[in-house]
Amino acid sequence: MTRPSLIAGNWKMNGMLADARALAKAIAGGHRPAAGNRSDVVLCPPAPLLLAVGEALAGSAVALGGQDCHAKPSGAFTGDVSARLLADIGCRYVIVGHSERRTLHGESDATVRAKAEAALAAGLIAIICVGETLAEREAGATASVLERQIDGSVPAAAAAATTVVAYEPVWAIGTGKVATTAQVAEAHGGLRRRLARNHADGGEFRLLYGGSVKPDNAGELLALPDVDGALVGGASLDAGQFLAIVAAARG
Ligand code: PEP
Repeated sequence: MTRPSLIAGNWKMNGMLADARALAKAIAGGHRPAAGNRSDVVLCPPAPLLLAVGEALAGSAVALGGQDCHAKPSGAFTGDVSARLLADIGCRYVIVGHSERRTLHGESDATVRAKAEAALAAGLIAIICVGETLAEREAGATASVLERQIDGSVPAAAAAATTVVAYEPVWAIGTGKVATTAQVAEAHGGLRRRLARNHADGGEFRLLYGGSVKPDNAGELLALPDVDGALVGGASLDAGQFLAIVAAARG
């Protein structure tokens, strides 16, 4: 069974209400997959913009996602957002363990796994991010770091229908330095083997690449056998660029 592709736009902490509405409408209007096309597209705006972006996407083929969630369903967690609430307001996906969360908010693999478990319990599809730093790559530790992150961050109950893994080398995020196709192929091959070792349907999990994906490099990255889509930061803030990446995934 072939895996449906997924292109996810991570807007990070960018956009005001009017820009967000306009961008979401432009992307929704430009993404008109042919009947039977199995490519998925999701936009992950900042939390306060989720409802407005959800309204702008209503009736389109573009889904809504959160950028993070808390591990608990509710409680005294000022400033946090639960997976349950994300689902309640129309999200289908949530990103967890983005390297900016791991680094700037000190999130461990155990924290990321707890968030992913909350996402699954809420009926969301978790996009779990993993990736090595430049120092780890230069020390020859990429494979062991990725294995540790997969073992520690992906819940035992995760399955291909509910869980997506995004490989995002930290040194390639927002830097314009895209990993080579050989580096991506090697990393994704290792991730696939690790998921297959840990999960009965590990061979069916969708694996995304993220890190300076742009229209001019999307085609060759998305053509790699174990790359099922992309997690896109900067280029998701421009409708034309994002839609070109979506088109590259459709082939
Ligand atoms: C990201 O935010 O996950 C990302 C990959 O960003 P960029 O595409 O800007 O490198």
